[in-house]
Amino acid sequence: MTYESATLTAVTQTTPTVKHFQFELEESSWDFEPGQHTVLRFEDDGEEVERPYTMINLPEDDKFALAIKKYPDGRATPWIHERQPGEEIDFAEPSGNLKIKDYDKDVVFISTGTGATPMYAMLRDYLKNGSGKSFYFHGEKTRETILFKEGLELLDTEEDSLNVFFSLTDEDWSGAQGYVQEHVPEELDSLEDKHFYICGVPAMVVQTEELLKEEGVEEERIITEGWESDAV
Ligand SMILES: Cc1cc2nc3c(=O)[nH]c(=O)nc-3n(C[C@H](O)[C@H](O)[C@H](O)COP(=O)(O)OP(=O)(O)OC[C@H]3O[C@@H](n4cnc5c(N)ncnc54)[C@H](O)[C@@H]3O)c2cc1C
Repeated sequence: MTYESATLTAVTQTTPTVKHFQFELEESSWDFEPGQHTVLRFEDDGEEVERPYTMINLPEDDKFALAIKKYPDGRATPWIHERQPGEEIDFAEPSGNLKIKDYDKDVVFISTGTGATPMYAMLRDYLKNGSGKSFYFHGEKTRETILFKEGLELLDTEEDSLNVFFSLTDEDWSGAQGYVQEHVPEELDSLEDKHFYICGVPAMVVQTEELLKEEGVEEERIITEGWESDAV
């Protein structure tokens, strides 16, 4: 992997546990597909630590943005959450299997937690370059931890071809409850001819794939990072 240095230019706390980070690359610009990720590298106690993070912006010159959830007992996230604008940090060139496969097919994005990061990037890419309908299903524990909530609600009102759907597991509210993937068949008129993009914790990705296959969706219409079944 080739790494290069980027300068942290801005940090914003967007949910109680998530910060958005903006970076400027020092020497080059990245040519990536929305949905792909970079890898953060830093030294901790003399050891090299590496963690993948997904760009949430559409490709733009020498800038990129990440949304990172802090795990207090984690290694990389408490470190990155303490960084300040002006600091230089190493990142690998973008890679990864998640990207829009066909801009002429209707798309269904299904995510939980920080699995929203590639979905949000791909959704905006599709709204700009795609020709069909888009459906965005996202599952969270509570309302306040929904990533990109305001941005998604705005897109939902602005874009006739988009439907946004949230489901919560740990809070009573007027919307849907329970595992988000279980709502997909009932919320869509038909599962035919659409492409399904899934990202979240491995168990959720695998269960969603199984559910879609049981409903008759062929494997080639289900798009994931691809490593999740080995992690369950
Ligand atoms: C392709 C890819 C893209 C990713 N993109 C993003 C992104 O855009 N934003 C983002 O915030 N994260 C993203 N991640 C997750 C990220 O790479 C790290 O795994 C995460 O930030 C935790 O790192 P850590 O070093 O703080 O925790 P670690 O030291 O690795 O883990 C410590 C503890 O934290 C908890 N934990 C860690 N990760 C998870 C998890 N995913 N779900 C539940 N509990 C967990 C567990 O209790 C674990 O024991 C991505 C992962 C992959 C594979």
